[in-house]
Amino acid sequence: MNYRHAYHAGNFADVLKHVVLTALIDALKAKPAPFAVIDTHAGSGCYALEGQEAEKTGEWREGIGRLLFPDVGARAGTGSSLPPLLRHWLDSLLALPGNQQGLKLYPGSPLQAANAMRAGDSAQLCELHPEEATRLRELFHHDKRMHVHQRDGYEALKGLLPPKEKRGLVLIDPPYEAQEAEYRLIEQALKAALVRWPTGIYAVWYPIKLRSQVQPFLRWLGHCGARRVLRAELLVHPDDSPLRLNGSGMAILNAPWKLDETLREPLRAMSRLLGQERPAEWRLDWLAEEAAGPPQPSPLPHSRSRR
Ligand code: SAM
Repeated sequence: MNYRHAYHAGNFADVLKHVVLTALIDALKAKPAPFAVIDTHAGSGCYALEGQEAEKTGEWREGIGRLLFPDVGARAGTGSSLPPLLRHWLDSLLALPGNQQGLKLYPGSPLQAANAMRAGDSAQLCELHPEEATRLRELFHHDKRMHVHQRDGYEALKGLLPPKEKRGLVLIDPPYEAQEAEYRLIEQALKAALVRWPTGIYAVWYPIKLRSQVQPFLRWLGHCGARRVLRAELLVHPDDSPLRLNGSGMAILNAPWKLDETLREPLRAMSRLLGQERPAEWRLDWLAEEAAGPPQPSPLPHSRSRR
């Protein structure tokens, strides 16, 4: 439990994660019925970009910092404006109280969700670290939609699923302090969660250092039983060094209809904006696209017997 997100808030990996989160919440808002957000590794909810921790690494400057230039549309290679999803996400950050004079506070996933949710939607936020959980509670003490649990997020999922709203999203964003063993924890949690709530959307963030470290997890996702699994990745360095964060990905299980189309232009723009030596490499593809459930009987025997 040494990880503190304050050192990394707003970095290039957060940008990808939170743009995808925004697209998922937008998709849920397309229908009037309330939805639930379950954040298994919530963090403290809000981070000062001029704080000691953020200043120490300066990571946000290579992430959200690159979206704050006045000519950001031109830099993104999209003309003078950003793709609508990116523009609307950036505007939502700048609209936060405290950010009127520029981006001073970077909201974490719980606060971004809270800002996007409607009055009838709700969120369950799990955070194991006592200080982070206390900050999160303070942040939402006035907001009855947001429920904070100081407990293990994987364990909590068992009791939280399915949510009473019967629609919504689970964000799984662990710190990977267990390195590759974290993937096995995620797989176990997803396996149980898909039994309890097969129709939920599950979004999993993963780091990319060495490609070979993440490959078994991606293969597992392709056969995990979820109907449609979309992968969105952005690599600011080649994926061949175990010593640094070269990129990151989001795997989305039961991805909403047309999520790939929604993310394509924003990813292309992020590749130009966040690429370090050159435009960042990106991938957007389906790890699973088949209908879920037991295999359907092949139509061939029927046709034969009918002939
Ligand atoms: N999701 C947040 C965001 O996007 O703003 C960032 C979360 S940060 C990457 C991971 C968080 O998980 C840390 O705050 C850490 O204290 C917490 N954590 C670590 N292990 C946990 C566990 N088993 N259950 C719940 N939280 C955990």
